Amino acid sequence: ATSNGRQGITVSADAAEESRRGLMLVLSSPSGAGKSTIARLLLEKEDNLALSISVTTRPRRSSEVDGVHYRFIDAKTFEHMKEDGELLEWAEVHGNYYATPRGPVENAIENGKDILFDIDIQGTFQLYEKMREDVVSIFILPPSIAEMKSRLRRRAEDSEEVILRRLKTAVGEMRHWSKYDYVVVNDDLERAYENVRAILKAERLKQSRSPAIGPLIDGMVGDLEEALKD
Ligand code: 5GP
Repeated sequence: ATSNGRQGITVSADAAEESRRGLMLVLSSPSGAGKSTIARLLLEKEDNLALSISVTTRPRRSSEVDGVHYRFIDAKTFEHMKEDGELLEWAEVHGNYYATPRGPVENAIENGKDILFDIDIQGTFQLYEKMREDVVSIFILPPSIAEMKSRLRRRAEDSEEVILRRLKTAVGEMRHWSKYDYVVVNDDLERAYENVRAILKAERLKQSRSPAIGPLIDGMVGDLEEALKD
């Protein structure tokens, strides 16, 4: 925005976007709904979106890289982080601890950077309590339980026992679907991805995220009043 004499205030769409607070895009779903694929596509294709890298006490899967997918830590380190107030939220899922480190998230949001969270329902509710205005939550729904099971088996990284436990957790999670801002059905990956992108785009444009927009509009109203005097 610039003020240039009689022309008054000029607002650029860039300036309005640049002044905004970052948002927290939360994707939750039962295992096997295809959430990870959607998250990966978003991170590859979207500018200004970074993954919140959780810490976990779960053993690393062979496909995972420490510091990229998770930071793998032991239970003692987790306890220390929790006691020191370093965790924005935490949860026990399938017998392991998962948590979001606070620092990187707060830093990103204050600098207008958006953060993607792949966290469960317990974590989502904790973020609601702490920073509801910044959170945009999407529940990814599989098209059917049969499809969900077959996706879990195709992944072939987990034992039958682990798969069964994940399906049991899914029951509890799916009951809470209505607490999410959006529900996206993943029967077609491309379509589900496009829907998530549309949500992100619209949420980025919300006026409540751009504190600079109010004063700019006030300035324009002032210009308009001036113009009407002539
Ligand atoms: P997985 O073991 O398959 O990577 O993750 C199991 C579940 O833990 C998923 O539902 C995932 O979204 C959730 N999860 C991963 N990181 C976090 C976290 O930092 N906090 C919470 N609350 N849940 C997490």
